[in-house]
Amino acid sequence: MDERWRISVDQNVCQGTGMCSSVASKHFELRSGHSYPIEPEIEPSDDVIDAAEGCPVEAILVKSTADDRVIAPEPY
Ligand code: SF4
Repeated sequence: MDERWRISVDQNVCQGTGMCSSVASKHFELRSGHSYPIEPEIEPSDDVIDAAEGCPVEAILVKSTADDRVIAPEPY
């Protein structure tokens, strides 16, 4: 089966900078000052990795649906 990723945004942490929605506009949208995944499950996408790595507060978590492995952000 093809790999799929699950995206989540921690609303308690997101600062609403909009960085993720500009980096990956197909995958994140800002609503009322917070970012939300447009679709919670997606095909693997470099844009989403860039958004998760670029979020200044690491509010975005990307995991594999198959085994819950963390895809991004990379742990320090
Ligand atoms: S980049 Fe991070 S802090 Fe900024 S809107 Fe996206 S999730 Fe929120």
